[in-house]
Amino acid sequence: MSSVEELRTEARGWLRAHLTGEFAALKGRGGPGREHEAFAERLAWERHMAAHGWTCIGWPVEYGGRGASTAEQIAFHEEYALANAPTRVGHIGEQLLGPTLIAHGTEELKRRFLPPIRAARELWCQGYSEPDAGSDLAAVRTRAALRDGQWTVNGQKTWTSLAHASQWCFVLARTEPGSRRHQGLSYLLVPMDQPGVEVRPIVQLTGTSEFNEVFFDGARTDAAHVVGAPGDGWRIAIATLGHERGVSTLGQQVGFRRELEALAAPSLLATGAHGDPYELDDWQRLFLFSRADTIYAGSDEIQRTLIAERILGLPKEVRA
Ligand SMILES: Cc1cc2nc3c(=O)[nH]c(=O)nc-3n(C[C@H](O)[C@H](O)[C@H](O)COP(=O)(O)OP(=O)(O)OC[C@H]3O[C@@H](n4cnc5c(N)ncnc54)[C@H](O)[C@@H]3O)c2cc1C
Repeated sequence: MSSVEELRTEARGWLRAHLTGEFAALKGRGGPGREHEAFAERLAWERHMAAHGWTCIGWPVEYGGRGASTAEQIAFHEEYALANAPTRVGHIGEQLLGPTLIAHGTEELKRRFLPPIRAARELWCQGYSEPDAGSDLAAVRTRAALRDGQWTVNGQKTWTSLAHASQWCFVLARTEPGSRRHQGLSYLLVPMDQPGVEVRPIVQLTGTSEFNEVFFDGARTDAAHVVGAPGDGWRIAIATLGHERGVSTLGQQVGFRRELEALAAPSLLATGAHGDPYELDDWQRLFLFSRADTIYAGSDEIQRTLIAERILGLPKEVRA
């Protein structure tokens, strides 16, 4: 048996044995537009996975992973989706920050931040987008300055997924006054639980709030909490984006197939969840949330331009 099939078999067996008892009720919870569902219980599930070595499997063994290959990780994510296991809560730390730290962080940063991500003890959010900086991310205006051995951060981020549940945020901030565009930015790791950070939920079409506005008003973080050199943040931020549509998304096809089959068999339709701000059935919620898939991690238009320019080698977009 190949190592991919071995891992697939092991994952299938483990999920079958462990998505039982108190965890059985979590099957299918937390999907698109349902990020608010059973959050504490899903976190407990994630910690259970961690205790059995099923978080961060693509990380190197020395940082607590299994060193799983891309094909092995895809097999795991497919099995996870086939088991209808709950949507993960720690994916921003595991899939975005973790690989970025492993590639670009100092040993000190890796030793401090990787173990609690792996154990699902610290959750992360991504502080990139601002009211006037989305597709045009180089327009970020949040600024930070080093004073007395600490960074002081001021500015506003928006659309920050799971900021309300996160202990830490990786923030793209302008640290060289007067710098423009991609220059003079830094990639800072900022604790959320402090007086200088305010999180305001944004109510979405679905009636729930997966993302937030985040205001930094004199927020502090340690001088050493910068990934890459100060001023080199653009390169690091782009490295993170390279992971955002990574292997974990490849299990989604299993979910899409399940949705298609349910659509063809109306008797399988579920009903709306009670206790939500207003009731939507599963199809309504999925339909409303599906618009988000065309926007986050770079909108479809931006992704198509990247494919055209970088993969197909077509002439570059005219930029102002
Ligand atoms: C569900 C969800 C979760 C998100 N979570 C996070 C998060 O955790 N952290 C975070 O930092 N951000 C997050 N975002 C924000 C997301 O990255 C931005 O919404 C996205 O980059 C688009 O930016 P914008 O909303 O400012 O739209 P704009 O950049 O203003 O774009 C508006 C429209 O113009 C089009 N457009 C813009 N520029 C071009 C161009 N050059 N060529 C062609 N078309 C163009 C876009 O495609 C889009 O249709 C999230 C978004 C969603 C929907």
